[in-house]
Amino acid sequence: MTTSYQPMTHILGYPRIGAKRELKFAEESYWQGQSTQAELVAKAQAVEASNWQAQVDAGVSLLTVGDFVYYDSILTHATRLGVLPKRFAAAQDLNQLDRQFYLARGRAPHDAKNCPDVAALEMTKWFDTNYHYLVPELTKDQTFTADFSDLLAQIERAKAFDKPLKVVVPGLVSFLYLSRIVEGNEAKAYDHDDQNSDHQHDEGCLHTSHTSENKVDQGTLGLVDALLPAYVQLFDQLAAAGVEWVQVDEPVLVLDLTQVWKNAFESVYNRLQRRDGLKLLITTYFGTLGDNLNLACHLPVAGLHIDVSREKVGEYFWKQVLDHLPAHKILSLGLINGRSVWASDLVALNLIVETAKAKLGHRLLLSTSCSLLHVPVDLTQETVPTEIDGKLAFARQKLDELVALAKGEITVNDKLNTGSLPEFNLIAQNRAEPFTIRYQAQQTKLNLPLVPTTTIGSFPQTAEIRAARAAWNKGDLSNSDYETAMKAEIKHAIDVQEELGIDVLVHGEAERTDMVEYFAGLLDGFWLSKLGWVQSYGSRCVRPPIIVGDISRPHAMTVKWIEYANSLTDKVVKGMLTGPVTILNWSFPPSHRNRREVSLQLAEVIRQEVGDLQDAGIPIIQIDEAAFREGLPLRKADQAEYWDWAVNSFKHCASSAHVDTQIHTHMCYSDFKDCLPEIKAMDADVITIETSRSGLQLLDVFHAQGYPNAIGPGVYDIHSPRTPNEANMKVVIDGALATIPAERLWINPDCGLKTRNWVETKAALTEMVKLAKTVRAQLAQSA
Ligand code: GLN
Ligand code: ZN
Repeated sequence: MTTSYQPMTHILGYPRIGAKRELKFAEESYWQGQSTQAELVAKAQAVEASNWQAQVDAGVSLLTVGDFVYYDSILTHATRLGVLPKRFAAAQDLNQLDRQFYLARGRAPHDAKNCPDVAALEMTKWFDTNYHYLVPELTKDQTFTADFSDLLAQIERAKAFDKPLKVVVPGLVSFLYLSRIVEGNEAKAYDHDDQNSDHQHDEGCLHTSHTSENKVDQGTLGLVDALLPAYVQLFDQLAAAGVEWVQVDEPVLVLDLTQVWKNAFESVYNRLQRRDGLKLLITTYFGTLGDNLNLACHLPVAGLHIDVSREKVGEYFWKQVLDHLPAHKILSLGLINGRSVWASDLVALNLIVETAKAKLGHRLLLSTSCSLLHVPVDLTQETVPTEIDGKLAFARQKLDELVALAKGEITVNDKLNTGSLPEFNLIAQNRAEPFTIRYQAQQTKLNLPLVPTTTIGSFPQTAEIRAARAAWNKGDLSNSDYETAMKAEIKHAIDVQEELGIDVLVHGEAERTDMVEYFAGLLDGFWLSKLGWVQSYGSRCVRPPIIVGDISRPHAMTVKWIEYANSLTDKVVKGMLTGPVTILNWSFPPSHRNRREVSLQLAEVIRQEVGDLQDAGIPIIQIDEAAFREGLPLRKADQAEYWDWAVNSFKHCASSAHVDTQIHTHMCYSDFKDCLPEIKAMDADVITIETSRSGLQLLDVFHAQGYPNAIGPGVYDIHSPRTPNEANMKVVIDGALATIPAERLWINPDCGLKTRNWVETKAALTEMVKLAKTVRAQLAQSA
């Protein structure tokens, strides 16, 4: 049945960095004291206004307000609620904006002289995205003093656009769920802004604990009563300001929730019921509602938003929602995929719209699946290659799709990316010999001392390296001059490592802007946009490569550089590759459903590269899997399948290695509690991991669950500009020796050194080499 009625449209949020990353540059300039707050605010409000204008131009029905924030939505909300952990006490005197920056960066803006540098708020991944939010630190007796004046001012600015307004706020339950209780001892120090980083990719190394750790902590639930009055005040003020809709983000409704959290939803929304006509729309995204479906449908609010983009084949959760939704309620269907860079199949989506219209009539809103924050801003800034012309849609284009869908202006797009890659049936091979045999053969061949020292791969990406690359990209530097410049950097890195006395050397990765982009640029099947930036956290943006087709490797990608490094030294040189799961997790896939196929195709090209390095005489090859667990599905029931192909992908890469070729892997996070079996199944000969920030908890996990292969626990935190000393590093090794026999232990930093400078790097590595000597002497004595 087709009706002529046109559903209203809205989006859950729009990118706030600006089409040319205006907000990023304005903020960084302000932080460095090169501009005033008034200048920053003016630039930010220009982006805000252009975001609204884009929605108006496209013809979106409701104007979304409140999605624009300077650093992070959860942080902004926490500041509006008066959350200020003790160590930030000096921020009392700062205005709300400076206070946010202080909490986020641990450093107050330039002229706030009386605010000392302190540990920033912890940052963690936002559900299954590569966006990071700041984790509010609350106390058990937290009080909230609400001040929403900046939001109200934003609403006043939006009124100039003469549209019905919808204001976005984090829902009370999700806010508490994503916060943590900090008692007494304050949070550990995290340096989020490496001042000299090149703003390419955060490379996952900033991870602190994973959100899953917060889930079991029900401490924040005790704050419901304290927080409710602030929400009542907020909704009252929004109603008084003439707002029609409030988008209340409750994404935790797509997670496996314990009963207490489910109960909290009921009691909170019962107590937040409105009788004044202000309409609350509970929004859920990044998954289907699963067993929270009934709960979500029956909350006493005006409407519910669901994400229709994440259904599995043959699953029709949206239909169940249609069936369960009480007769008065409005349903917002998140049809336009806010996580995908591909154009929508409007014909298919229109079928859903027609069914929903028939059932709901006027009670239907059409929307994006989630905020458009997770896709680049505007495709019209790009020169798109003909093979994918007409197939892509960035945030701005998605607005047009949404409105076309509502108007029923459906044209068949014959260029659509169907998102299907050939089914790839790859049975990952185990390596022919078990670890013990391999390791013995390798160590005999390599002739390394006990507790060998190495680094994770990259050395400082200096201003000179970046300048050379920029000139080369512009065509101002010839290929051969660029190659000469990079070789000089490699030689420098090798010389320094020899001088320091490191055992296993690396070439330093000077030629790589980023560990994923570098490979994407050399493989067929990828497209690299120019301005396809997506916010990762704060002012940090990433530009994920886009996987546009079958992946293949026209020629070797790393051999030339590694071979050159190898020719300069008699020491062992380790080759450096990025693993398939990490490449996938930091790229835009052809479709969510094809992640497995993409991963296996990537595994095959990395396997070929492993073979080529080995043939070139490189005895150790490291396959980095920095983002190995980033693509893990949110719900437990979906996780086994992911692990299965992720582990198989890695094993496939390593399957071309001979018995005496040593395979290393590296992961820069510490939460292995729930995936150590999978890490073991990867069967890398050596794994280097983050340890120094997580204390020794990580080693406890390895101890409790056992780990049969070799490990290099990171002995110092590369994110900190402070020079670590031998004694601090020794704590890690002493702890490790309690669990891991010396024969299987390596000594290395936490992660790559690209964001550090050479002075810091040499100082730290000098201490690390000293440590290895001390440990060897001790071991010799006790033997
Ligand atoms: N080999 C990479 C480097 O050293 C690893 C980076 C990472 O783990 N994120 O830079
Ligand atoms: Zn790392």
